[in-house]
Amino acid sequence: MRALRLLNWKSEPELVEVPKPVPGPGQVVIRIGGAGACHSDLHLMHDFTAGALPWGPPFTLGHENAGWVDSVGAGVTQVKEGDAVAVYGPWGCGVCSRCRLGIETLCENPFAAPIPGGGGGLGLDGGVAEYMLIPSERFLVPLPSNLDPLVAAPLTDAGLTPYHAVRRSWSKMGPEATVVVIGAGGLGHMAIQIVKATTAARVIAVDSKASALALALEVGADDTLESNDQTTVQIKEMTAGHGADVVLDFVGSEQTLKMALAAARTLGDVTLVGIAGGSVPFSFFSQGYEVSLQTTYWGSKPELEEVLNLASRGLIRAEHTRYSLADAAEAYADLAAGRVVGRAVIVP
Ligand SMILES: [Zn+2]
Ligand SMILES: [Zn+2]
Repeated sequence: MRALRLLNWKSEPELVEVPKPVPGPGQVVIRIGGAGACHSDLHLMHDFTAGALPWGPPFTLGHENAGWVDSVGAGVTQVKEGDAVAVYGPWGCGVCSRCRLGIETLCENPFAAPIPGGGGGLGLDGGVAEYMLIPSERFLVPLPSNLDPLVAAPLTDAGLTPYHAVRRSWSKMGPEATVVVIGAGGLGHMAIQIVKATTAARVIAVDSKASALALALEVGADDTLESNDQTTVQIKEMTAGHGADVVLDFVGSEQTLKMALAAARTLGDVTLVGIAGGSVPFSFFSQGYEVSLQTTYWGSKPELEEVLNLASRGLIRAEHTRYSLADAAEAYADLAAGRVVGRAVIVP
């Protein structure tokens, strides 16, 4: 079968021929119906060096996956051949207290996981391929019957990550609250829909690209602002001088983090999701009183089920651009150049 593999750190991935995987006991092989291309894949290609992570190349890219069960190993009881499934991407040990809650992103015994701190497409073979080996049926979530794997694939990260970020701050998203979403790309355009579908808060989207702001309005943002040195002032003006109750930063640069902290209302939440690598000083007086600054990482398996539920009811939808496996390298080039509207999804 064909697979897009990262063969070395600091290199472009290559489409190569590899053997089709065979499921061992408890394992499942799925036929890929869609694999989302994520910004973090670009970081994997360009920014890491040997030793930075407990794993490394070669492996097949793709950690946002959905498809159909192709074959199952001995002892698999929860899924059968032909079932449509989404893959829960973060693979933990399955038995620590966090994993038992379905929060395998934060597994506290990572050296007992299939790979420490990784998963399919993150050290182990992912879904930018024709087939993918799933080490345990525990990592599969059945798809609602009206959700195609192509549509579901980006929901497993580009949907789940913003869902988790929004859900953490639900208590601050009352009917009179304002939520600012910085970065209306692959994750941000989902965050806007998730806030609108699950709360009555007002959403202001901020981005530097006109096409992203147009998409933000299309998916339900109440207002949009171009990202510049006036944005914070404008957010204050639009909120009677108070600032935003919740700011979700899907970029994470020094500039956007500064903007996020300055735009936050007292008692507000600033949530850093994007991994642009920026930092800001954080001290008692560096922001309004009782503003919380928090990070967030991916999401839990129960949350993935909630995301799929929202999508199957038509309440959220991942905009996507479809690429063939032969054009997978192009999908990443377009992503790097900021040319993709919504999420790039690779279909073998
Ligand atoms: Zn990702
Ligand atoms: Zn664990």
